[in-house]
Amino acid sequence: MPEGHTVHRTARKFQKDFVGQQLFVTSPQGRFVDATLVSGQKLMTSEAFGKHLFLGFESGFIRVHLGIYGKWRFSQFEDTPKEPVGQVRARFLSSDSVADLVGPTACEVIDAASFEMHKSRLGPDPLRIDPADQELERFIARCKKSKTPIGQLLMDQSVISGIGNVYRAELLFRAGRSPYRPGMEVSDKDLAAIWFDAVKLMKIGVSKGIMLTRDDYLKSMPAVKDRYFVYKREGLPCRNCGNEVSLALMNARKLYWCNGCQSA
Ligand SMILES: [Zn+2]
Repeated sequence: MPEGHTVHRTARKFQKDFVGQQLFVTSPQGRFVDATLVSGQKLMTSEAFGKHLFLGFESGFIRVHLGIYGKWRFSQFEDTPKEPVGQVRARFLSSDSVADLVGPTACEVIDAASFEMHKSRLGPDPLRIDPADQELERFIARCKKSKTPIGQLLMDQSVISGIGNVYRAELLFRAGRSPYRPGMEVSDKDLAAIWFDAVKLMKIGVSKGIMLTRDDYLKSMPAVKDRYFVYKREGLPCRNCGNEVSLALMNARKLYWCNGCQSA
């Protein structure tokens, strides 16, 4: 599943290639009938909040959430664009660029009030804050009033937005903290460390387009098997202590961690 860094990259792509232009928005698959509500209008803004992309047109917004299977395909053309391939939910067309949206969980036209409502439901996004410490208090406050395990809180988009399964596992490993510790029992210092680490790693994710979490590899493009400390490494020796990396389900999602390094 795409995590926040992917959505922020998409927002920047729209910023660069589509904002300021009149776009034709169509529904090749026939399932995005609202396309006609904004088609032909100028795209004014492109912003990511957590895992949501909001495209602001003159009369409203398009909200996109990729979910597990959604993806974007971008291309450019000289004379005429290529026909859509497969089940394209929405096509965005400028004079020279195409963006095709395939398989999203959500793609809908919303008004300004609904845009504000969606934003208000989302927790602080480590990629939106500059300087990043201003939203830290909100994140800490949400964790401290909850008995829910920190591993589950990090996946709760109303607590912190943009984190998915990879960053969740890796941030907790890097912090040396058990995913099972209740939020209220994690110290402010540890929560701050997790927050700033998320800011650092997700910024790298935006610039490189892949998730990297091992300090020795942050500047390179390692193979997938070398990218992570614990994510999808169940049964393999921990890179730090040699213990077997564990796998369990937490709130129906796979959780990876090292009992040796993350017992506290
Ligand atoms: Zn370990």
